[in-house]
Amino acid sequence: MTNLPGRSSRPGPAGILAARLRQIHGLFETRPVRAVLLALAVLLPLALLIAWTQASAWKARAMRQAMAEASALAAVEENDIAARIGEQFGRMRKTSRLLASDVRFVALLRNPADAALADELNRYLVAYCRDLGLHRAYILDASGRCLVSSDYANAATLVGRSFHDRDYFAGAMRGQPTTQFVVGRVSAVPGFHFATPILGCDGILGVAMAKADLRPLGQGLHFTSGFVTDDQGIIVLAADPDHLLMAVPGAPALSLPENERLARYQRAELAVLPITPHPVLGETLYVSGGGAPIPSVLRRATVAKEKLAVYLFEPVTGLAAAEAQYPVRFGLYALAALCLLGAGLSLYGYLARDACLRRNLLLLNAKLAHQAHHDALTGCANRRRFGEAVAMAAAEAGRSGAPLALAMIDLDHFKLVNDRHGHPVGDRMLRHVSGLIRGRLRPGELLARLGGEEFAVLLPGLDEAAARSRMDAVRLEIAATPLSVDGLDVPQTVSVGVTADTGGKPVQELQREADMALYLAKKCGRDQVVAASCVDTRLTLDELEGGACPNPKGA
Ligand code: GH3
Ligand code: MG
Ligand code: MG
Repeated sequence: MTNLPGRSSRPGPAGILAARLRQIHGLFETRPVRAVLLALAVLLPLALLIAWTQASAWKARAMRQAMAEASALAAVEENDIAARIGEQFGRMRKTSRLLASDVRFVALLRNPADAALADELNRYLVAYCRDLGLHRAYILDASGRCLVSSDYANAATLVGRSFHDRDYFAGAMRGQPTTQFVVGRVSAVPGFHFATPILGCDGILGVAMAKADLRPLGQGLHFTSGFVTDDQGIIVLAADPDHLLMAVPGAPALSLPENERLARYQRAELAVLPITPHPVLGETLYVSGGGAPIPSVLRRATVAKEKLAVYLFEPVTGLAAAEAQYPVRFGLYALAALCLLGAGLSLYGYLARDACLRRNLLLLNAKLAHQAHHDALTGCANRRRFGEAVAMAAAEAGRSGAPLALAMIDLDHFKLVNDRHGHPVGDRMLRHVSGLIRGRLRPGELLARLGGEEFAVLLPGLDEAAARSRMDAVRLEIAATPLSVDGLDVPQTVSVGVTADTGGKPVQELQREADMALYLAKKCGRDQVVAASCVDTRLTLDELEGGACPNPKGA
């Protein structure tokens, strides 16, 4: 069939892939170590990809765990701080309430001109502050003027000053105990002011003030991180004292009018504490200014009663540890992936090689078995195989009673072929003649080369006459089919001895009869078939030598 023009017989991608896979498999069969190393080199990116995914997943897990732990810690601290703020502020509020309930202040408010009482109360307030850890304690009359104060002995004392503009005063005068964070305008000390109305039977007479400065308050809260802001977003309590009076980003205090900022905080400008978002795995951590910039979980809670907000920063220290561990993990996972791939490939290589060796062994065994029973030059059965076949056929014939014929064939003057044309041509002649004989055989018949230029044919089911006739046809064909050597015809004839049996003759006897018939064929001129029935097979070869030819050639 001719190829049509334009049609390509090239294999498609699937064919190319299959061929490449077969090639790779072949390499595993023949050079397993090299194949494993090559495959590992090719699969290295895959191992690295596996290691990268595994290490990244591990890092994400470690980071999430660290964040969850920090969050849990911050939640615990938030509850503690809120409880401690409530406790501390309750105590401070009580100090103001105690003052408001002292009848001597009521007496003074009713009679502010009583200098002796004022003097006694001033000294009382000094002792009160010292004993209760307050920064200031003072009493305001209904107009907001300070009547007595724990700082009465200072040159710049609160006594005589007016605080009517303070929110805490206004709140208390409305009958509400009020707390406010303010930076003292006289002392410039920031602090929480606890105001309690002083009640007379005819209404509110004035206000009892207790001021706590930030240091003792902060110490009482036991902060480890973070800070507390007032309702204006100004840091009023902090683990780090440097953060005090700074504003958190977006604090309402930043948009207050300047005069109000001055009044409350004694500052025209307020520094903002940077709190920068730091996203990690979809969650937002924060880095706060000052100190080591460790990303932290931020928890913000309000203490509504005190109008305060608590900011707690719990540093997630596990993040840096996970980052530091990542390359080690990556290396370990890569090594493990390579080992697993290597083990898998080695197993594959071992199995492929093993299967290949087994296959080769089977082929070799088959080849050896063939060689053990066949002649290497002509491919015919050898003497051993022929002996086995004859024995089996004789047994079968004995059982069935069918005839069994045997023919011995010898090339005539074969030595001359070797001598004239050389040994290789002699070999070719042997192949040529055996091919011609084989071409005439029927199923169940067997040709064997017994040695040299001597062949034998086993013909089950034929009697002597039929065998003789078949062999004569073979002889004629050989004689009529010379071997062509370089344009030169080299003729060859054969002599054949034939015998047959139906009565279960021993095999050796059959062979001897065929040999004798062949001998006679040679003796009587070669290129002929002699049947054993024409020979007195009881004679020896020497006795036969002198006898007449029973079947002259051409008869
Ligand atoms: P005859 O007609 O009496 O059988 O004469 P012949 O020459 O055929 O018999 P002879 O026994 O004198 O010689 C047989 C020759 O066959 C001798 C040997 O060199 C040759 N021969 C045997 N085996 C081989 C072989 O395998 N190849 C070749 N080329 N020659 C072989
Ligand atoms: Mg011969
Ligand atoms: Mg011979």
